Amino acid sequence: MTKKSVPFSQEKLNAVIKDYPTPFHIYDEKKMRENARALIRAFSWNEGFREYFAVKAAPNPFLMKILAAEGFGADCSSLPELIIAEKCGVTGEDIMFTSNDTPAEEFIEAERLGAIINLDDISHIPFLEHCAGLPDIICCRYNPGPLKKGNLIIGHPEEAKYGFTREQLFEGYKILRDKGIRRFGIHTMVASNELDPLYFVETAGILFTLIAELSGELGIRFEFANIGGGLGIPYRPGQKPLDLEIISNGIRERYNAVIEKNGLSPLKLFMECGRYITGPYGYLISRVLHLKNTYKHFAGLDACMANLMRPALYGAYHHITVMGKENAPATTLYDVTGSLCENNDKFAIDRKLPELAEGDIVVIHDAGAHGHAMGFNYNGKLRSAELLLRENGDVEQIRRAETADDYFATLDWGKMANFKA
Ligand SMILES: *Cc1c(COP(=O)(O)O)cnc(C)c1O
Repeated sequence: MTKKSVPFSQEKLNAVIKDYPTPFHIYDEKKMRENARALIRAFSWNEGFREYFAVKAAPNPFLMKILAAEGFGADCSSLPELIIAEKCGVTGEDIMFTSNDTPAEEFIEAERLGAIINLDDISHIPFLEHCAGLPDIICCRYNPGPLKKGNLIIGHPEEAKYGFTREQLFEGYKILRDKGIRRFGIHTMVASNELDPLYFVETAGILFTLIAELSGELGIRFEFANIGGGLGIPYRPGQKPLDLEIISNGIRERYNAVIEKNGLSPLKLFMECGRYITGPYGYLISRVLHLKNTYKHFAGLDACMANLMRPALYGAYHHITVMGKENAPATTLYDVTGSLCENNDKFAIDRKLPELAEGDIVVIHDAGAHGHAMGFNYNGKLRSAELLLRENGDVEQIRRAETADDYFATLDWGKMANFKA
């Protein structure tokens, strides 16, 4: 069972806030590295096991560089994400390019970098051939439709916009084979924030069976199976973290029963987790600006949903620690709000917290994935800084906060002044 703690003392945090005003995101390098190593260790039975970090979860090149140093590749889905990977020295088959509704220039760039392209649709075969030519390794994304249940974040597979149907998959690989491609992979991703380890075992099992069928029918050889991301994290205290051993052992059994038994090994197992890699190791640090008592108690922070959108977007739970009051009894029900002119700009609704005072520093947990990354500028809100707590305890800024100049950077004030309304 998880207990929520913060990796710094109140004094340390106060010292950081002197240099970098709230709100900001801060990432814990040490814990992130330890977790990365544990993931690789858990799958060491599979030669060629690889985690391609889903860049969208925390698209900061400093974090990418740390993860690349731990042996991760990059899972990119857009041109700017490809640029981040290249800037961090991650190129070639260390990149999986998993996109959908893809513009031609993104395929062209992915091929220039030598990335493994993961096709989202059968119509992308001629599209890719036309715009960039077919590469020598290719992957297709499978959507199992009614065979598999999805969840709130990703939806039911048959309603999801992603991937090939089963029939299209057989047709697609046949077309690719006939066009001379010899190196193949297969991919699926049907859950997000899943905490049931058997879910991933089942997903891998589905892909292994498909590989056996596709190899048998089409006479092609698969180099890898990518079971996607979606490994969940315990956002709530008391939730059980995923047991990597259960996932790994379960997948290994299926591997032996299907891949090994049919003479289809070696097959590399790939993952492309985002949340699991950075989520628990990022914190949004904010200050209580106002306490308001009307029909409810409201605690207004200096952060808002532009800094962390998940609670407003899908009612996601993010644990809140009040610095200096970690052991104080949680006696008061608060709605913890931001300042957007949107009533759903709330980090928590009816949350029991210790009695708050103006100026209290609050730590919002598990903000390291899909946190800063989902930031936006609505209401003229500026994106906050990102800081890194280094392994030696130093704190470095890895992205500064936006300024009003950034907000106006796409505007031409001179032209506006001469513009006749
Ligand atoms: C979002 C996404 C991921 C990462 O998902 P997490 O839930 O953060 O692990 C991986 N692959 C694809 C294709 C995605 O869209």
